[in-house]
Amino acid sequence: MIQSFAFSFLFLFCFYFFIFYFLFFSVFIFFFLHFSLIPKYIRFENFYITMPDVLIKNVRLLADGVLTPAEILIENGKVTGIAKEFRISEYDALIDGKNAVAIPAGIDAHVHFRDPGMTYKENWYTGSCSAAAGGITTVLEHPNTLPPVIDKSGFYLKLKQAKKKSIIDFGINGGVTNNLEKLTELWALGVNCFGEIFMAESTGGLNISNDTLGSALSKIGQMEAVAAIHAEDDALRLQNEKLLLNDNSDDVHSRIRPNECEEIAVRNCLKINEAEKTPTNIHFCHTSTPEAVALIDAARKDLQAKQNQMIEKNKNKDPAERTSDYQILRHITCEVTPHHLFLSTKDCGRLKTFGKMNPPLRDPKSAEYMMTALRTGLVNAVASDHAPHRTYEKETAIKAAPSGVPGVETLMPLMLAAVRKNMLSLERMIEVTSRNPARIFDLERLGKGFLKPGFDADIVLFDPKDVQVIKAKNLHTRCEWTPYEGMDGIFPAMTLSRGDVLWDGSQIIAKKGRGSFLPGKGRRPDADEFDGVDDRDLIDENEMENEEEDE
Ligand SMILES: [Zn+2]
Repeated sequence: MIQSFAFSFLFLFCFYFFIFYFLFFSVFIFFFLHFSLIPKYIRFENFYITMPDVLIKNVRLLADGVLTPAEILIENGKVTGIAKEFRISEYDALIDGKNAVAIPAGIDAHVHFRDPGMTYKENWYTGSCSAAAGGITTVLEHPNTLPPVIDKSGFYLKLKQAKKKSIIDFGINGGVTNNLEKLTELWALGVNCFGEIFMAESTGGLNISNDTLGSALSKIGQMEAVAAIHAEDDALRLQNEKLLLNDNSDDVHSRIRPNECEEIAVRNCLKINEAEKTPTNIHFCHTSTPEAVALIDAARKDLQAKQNQMIEKNKNKDPAERTSDYQILRHITCEVTPHHLFLSTKDCGRLKTFGKMNPPLRDPKSAEYMMTALRTGLVNAVASDHAPHRTYEKETAIKAAPSGVPGVETLMPLMLAAVRKNMLSLERMIEVTSRNPARIFDLERLGKGFLKPGFDADIVLFDPKDVQVIKAKNLHTRCEWTPYEGMDGIFPAMTLSRGDVLWDGSQIIAKKGRGSFLPGKGRRPDADEFDGVDDRDLIDENEMENEEEDE
């Protein structure tokens, strides 16, 4: 009896001990595996909802100049792996790329989203949707809004609008006018760079004299920031305006602001910068002429030679012993717009005021040269200079019409179509639409510009055979027209930003306001979100009436 009782007791003890031991270790092993070594194999769908994991299968990537089948793994908005095959069965979302080509999404370093102040033309929501549908997931927005970004309240007003509405990531540029005492403050608030700095009259009236330009460049040089320059000579423009006062032909705007206008301004700007005590990094916006490119190329080579000498001279010295002319390595870069590549004065008759922008359309030879310069590396980047105006504003006399054309949604499609036509390689296209803009504007630091592990999963999928006809009615800008109507474009089959699908090839599926602010490297760590700005300053009159249309 006693024996039997002892036996039962022992049996039950062992049984419960075993159950307890088993449960304890199961739980332990489960959590151990879940959080560590091979989480993908045991993570149950939706069990762990804080981490959106995406596997993109069945795409092709450019590797050593050849399109190669690949899979892309995304965790926490970043690319975590690229391989031929991952053999993973658990994920939050699977995207079948259907043999599409995957490239880094575009960075458009030159857009005017008109918000705040001119939201009847565009706003941060419509502008960013337009960008996303065209394969752009990062923009740098320029300062000539109302009010312009020339001080703290202007900066915060724009930041607030962008945070509320943008579906893509964005940087904000600081304006330069007669506000030199505000530049340090703007830099500390987190502007990406300074400009565009207008050397001639254009939308917004922020143009400055050559004297002010010199002081501004010196100040920007002290901060080791980039000055983005709109180079057009105002004296020559004014002179031509008088000469051509009664000329109303379709191409008159191109003759008022001829190639020489850009050439003079680029030469002056380079000269002024070099004469300053602390010359700065210069980026020429929307270069459009062989003359300007030649000057920039020569200046770049000159600078390179000087810097090589400087490096040689200081090679074996302590930082304290370096010669006084030792300075931070600077760069001189430039961009071209799609309209200066794919349109020319041949289109003036057809486009009329809808082909009016600054700098203006150039003769076909200049346009052809700009593509060669882009292909061969003389021009570093493509940027849209997206500058929308409504149809009713453009439907007026050539001299009275506002300057500017939309372009953020057609930049990547036009460039991909150009690749298909062998005008440049896909490798170079990627270089000038993502990698180089990231390098020039210091966005690599923030995970932008490259499709590789550790970088943001900002990706465009496209079918290289899917050539479409560009039609304004299919675009997402508030502006109802495009100067590229009827031209070929290869549009994204899908656009992802930090792993989120923004555009699925037929519709925008992103939440308004999901876009992140990309602070410039000068941002003070203690700069508050809306530091000292009264919320009452932040009401935009136009906003109320346009709010409903946005959705
Ligand atoms: Zn400009």
